[in-house]
Amino acid sequence: MNPITTLYPVNELFETIQGEGMYTGTPAIFLRLQGCPVGCPWCDTQHTWETSEDAKVSAQQMLAKTSATAQWAELTAAQLLELFQQQNFNAKHVVITGGEPAMFDLRELGQTLEQAGYRLQIETSGTFELKLTENTWVTVSPKLDMPGGYLVRPDCMKRANEIKYPVAMQKHIDALDNLLRRCPPRADALIALQPISQRPRATELAIKVCIERNWRLSVQLHKYLNIE
Ligand code: SF4
Repeated sequence: MNPITTLYPVNELFETIQGEGMYTGTPAIFLRLQGCPVGCPWCDTQHTWETSEDAKVSAQQMLAKTSATAQWAELTAAQLLELFQQQNFNAKHVVITGGEPAMFDLRELGQTLEQAGYRLQIETSGTFELKLTENTWVTVSPKLDMPGGYLVRPDCMKRANEIKYPVAMQKHIDALDNLLRRCPPRADALIALQPISQRPRATELAIKVCIERNWRLSVQLHKYLNIE
């Protein structure tokens, strides 16, 4: 019996430079999936929250978007691979983001792309069970106490290759410390602090704590460069 082919709701597909975390500076194909129930009040991709049938468009219409909208296209892994080739993307690193991409079973996508020579990275809030290939690089950006009521899962924290946490004040460091106690990551997981909105005091705090703890600083390079 053939396995059921997974359909992925794609909000955006573009090539750029990864600006955050371990792979900062790496040319990457960003695949933004539609849908997220977590509800972070400061979310900068609120247009990805709802998946409305009325907003469903063709792959070409999705690719032609010039602004952030809730329009999405439904694509299989094989169709996505074909689009990568049609778009002449050069990058071999694929960042699956959202929305909350862990709402979907990403194993078929991972297998298809890995067989074609791509490496995958997922950026997730850590609130959904991960269905990924073994080689997928997992970046958990834990979202705590958000209005959607989803809890950060210990299994996600254990699977994380990297934990990337936005900080502005000491209370954010304290919240991260509590989470790391409650849901310990693996010993080799990278922990990266990301100053919120490039604020100087947030950056100063993040630098200080990173040096004290031997953690990484993630500065959102794309925002300094003013690229997508
Ligand atoms: S988890 Fe991500 S996409 Fe979802 S609301 Fe929070 S910041 Fe936005």
